[in-house]
Amino acid sequence: MVHREFDAYDYRSDGSFVPAHYAFDGDGGRGFTVRRDGRVVLELGPGYRLLRVRECGICSTDLARHHLPFPLPQVIGHEVLAVGDDGRRYVVEINASHAARGVAHDCAFCRAGLPTHCPERVTLGIHDLPGGFGPWILAPIAACLPVPDAVPDAAAVLVEPLAAALHAVRTVAPRAGERIAVLGARRLGMLVVAALAAVRDRSAPGQRFHVAAIVRDGRLDALAKALGADEVHVAPFAGPTPAFDVVIDTTGAPSGLDEAVRLARREVHLKSTHGQPAGGLLHLTELVVDELAIAPLGDPMAWRGRRVAWLAAAPPPPPLVAAAEVVGADAGTAAAHFARARTGLPRADVAVVDSCAQIDAAIRPFADRHDPLVAPRGRILLHPRFAAPACSPLLQAVVGRGLRLTSSRCGDFHDALQLLVAEPALRGVGDHLVSHRFPAASLPHAFAAAGRRDCIKAVVVHGDADG
Ligand SMILES: [Zn+2]
Ligand SMILES: [Zn+2]
Repeated sequence: MVHREFDAYDYRSDGSFVPAHYAFDGDGGRGFTVRRDGRVVLELGPGYRLLRVRECGICSTDLARHHLPFPLPQVIGHEVLAVGDDGRRYVVEINASHAARGVAHDCAFCRAGLPTHCPERVTLGIHDLPGGFGPWILAPIAACLPVPDAVPDAAAVLVEPLAAALHAVRTVAPRAGERIAVLGARRLGMLVVAALAAVRDRSAPGQRFHVAAIVRDGRLDALAKALGADEVHVAPFAGPTPAFDVVIDTTGAPSGLDEAVRLARREVHLKSTHGQPAGGLLHLTELVVDELAIAPLGDPMAWRGRRVAWLAAAPPPPPLVAAAEVVGADAGTAAAHFARARTGLPRADVAVVDSCAQIDAAIRPFADRHDPLVAPRGRILLHPRFAAPACSPLLQAVVGRGLRLTSSRCGDFHDALQLLVAEPALRGVGDHLVSHRFPAASLPHAFAAAGRRDCIKAVVVHGDADG
């Protein structure tokens, strides 16, 4: 049995921090009890281990935490570099899914290799599980990855957002000669620039692509170039508007999406969630949470053998009906149908729609629960008769010129660690990006500083005396 007591700051729904006294009791086999000021606040099942936090980064999700639909108060912080009782350094994948805990399960999402979409997960420092702004965490056992010796602390503490950045790069899959732009290159955006540059530098000479950063603050020009950008543009643009094949929107602002659509030829990739309607859609944040894509229907027969929710008024082509599991109905009826699937995910692979309301319904068909119609990383396909409203340049571009919208949320830590080991230039990313460091005892001060314009990335550092 492990017993560990410590003091940590709780984050409250009004955005303030208050000190609390925590106790963790239990072990990996039987589970842990978490107490705050003597009262039980969380019972965790098996599959966790105790780690001492060394450093924890502050990101936009933390700064916007009071807008997210998870209970408060909580010890937040999810960009963690920690040390085990074996003395090794670890980074921690934040989703405590069945797979991450290494427990026996019958979960369709964990079995399908989508543990970051496990419906029963709690999330380190975001949803229930006490986070890295406290000196100790309970980490899912299979989610603790040892940090290779070659990777310095300053880069290791960025593995969580770097993995998310790299996942965006993998999703857009840059092609030879393309120009890939990062819109709003700043805290997360600069990591996307660094990930793009590392992937570019590792590709064969004939497969190289160009990395562009679009910033609002001209002083970020040198930083973007130091991280490997081939070109930096300051918006609003002084000369002619540049064009790119792919624009990765990291602005976290509804207006960013419209600008990305204006600048992108092939694809817009949405990397941030702001909780607000944008692009004519209500549930854009949920689209990113589920990592969905919006694209033209194209050849319906590309979906033979798949689960197709056909919401559009025009009937599905008979050859598709013969070759796929097609349910022609409203989103709620289709979702209920696919929820009964005995194999694979209990969701549709794609939904075919002809209106904005159907897109929103495909993302969240039920008003009273979160169950989506479309599977994580699935697609919403716009029927040729889709009537794109004037208020949505995004949907007009999808229908009018075949633009695709893709999105992504978390990333693969193995992928990020491998790239850090392989690319010496990327290992310096922390030295470029981390502009402020604060002792954990100054957390409220660190938070205030992290939200200011002069701060790119702030990191909270725990002393060995804590706990
Ligand atoms: Zn983060
Ligand atoms: Zn699961």
